[in-house]
Amino acid sequence: MYVLGTESTAHTFGVGVVRDGEVLANERDVYKPVKGGIIPGEAARHHYELGPTILKRALEKAKVSLEDIDLFAFSQGPGLLPCLKVGSQITNYLSAKYNKPVIGVNHCIAHIEIARKVTELDDPVMLYVSGGNTQVITFENGKYVVFGETQDIGIGNLLDKVGRRLGIPFPAGPKIEELAKLGKKYIPMPYSIKGMDVSFSGLETFISKILDKYKIEDISFSLQETAFAMLMEASERAMAYCKKESLIIAGGVAANTRLNEMGGKMCEARGAKFRFMNKEYAGDNGAMIAYTGYLMKDYKQEDLTPRPNFRTDAVKVTYR
Ligand code: AMP
Ligand code: MG
Repeated sequence: MYVLGTESTAHTFGVGVVRDGEVLANERDVYKPVKGGIIPGEAARHHYELGPTILKRALEKAKVSLEDIDLFAFSQGPGLLPCLKVGSQITNYLSAKYNKPVIGVNHCIAHIEIARKVTELDDPVMLYVSGGNTQVITFENGKYVVFGETQDIGIGNLLDKVGRRLGIPFPAGPKIEELAKLGKKYIPMPYSIKGMDVSFSGLETFISKILDKYKIEDISFSLQETAFAMLMEASERAMAYCKKESLIIAGGVAANTRLNEMGGKMCEARGAKFRFMNKEYAGDNGAMIAYTGYLMKDYKQEDLTPRPNFRTDAVKVTYR
């Protein structure tokens, strides 16, 4: 069975193809704003313009044609509405044209499913850290449950916002990581964890007020240490409370070496397993949508419209 999946929740337009759950192709292109953060309409324009090329590349790579596809999957949400519309429209159109079913996949769940597959950790706690999302997710009673999450902005968004103030272009995460390695002095910063949830906007405001008082390297270092420690505390609490023996970190921020190091140390101290997430599948990609579409192949869905606020726990998981 061939499944084609499209991803278009934010800046990435991706197309993946899987055969019986094995990835054959994973092609993408990422919209980069000239200045500042993502402008949704511009990102959508990027996806419309590059969509056909990425689709063609994925089909060529997988050595299949559209006639071979048995199921079309798209990333239904959460995400930016103009961007979500692109994947939804392309996929619904192909489904109608080739008379094959279509399925809407929850983006966060797709990150988890591809992570479970590539790391071979069956029942992990998942720390999902991207531009817009920051969630600690576990599997309980047939559902993925958001155990803790950000109460305001996503961790990636925090790094990008601070980056903008420091004159670092989007996405700022990699550059902040580089600068942080040169930082020597820890500047105490607001550490905000409420129950299971984290909050980052106070940290952003605090940093905006100290920009000219400290070195950029020390700010970057202290920012990472503070924000990542909050994420570790929430993840560890989820592991202890839900009795889970492993942790996966996924999403664009999972590329950060220091965050992974902290995850590794925390798990080691607990006697739990920790695996690095393969770069190919850590960020937004089409293969995770195709793969999750394959898992959900027997689902009957009525609502196939984009869902910008699609909750992780709104999906009843019957394939697990
Ligand atoms: P995503 O939304 O999952 O595609 O992830 C994009 C986010 O990941 C952006 O906010 C980037 O700044 C962030 N990011 C990418 N690489 C790194 C890194 N090495 N360290 C921290 N954040 C990163
Ligand atoms: Mg994502």
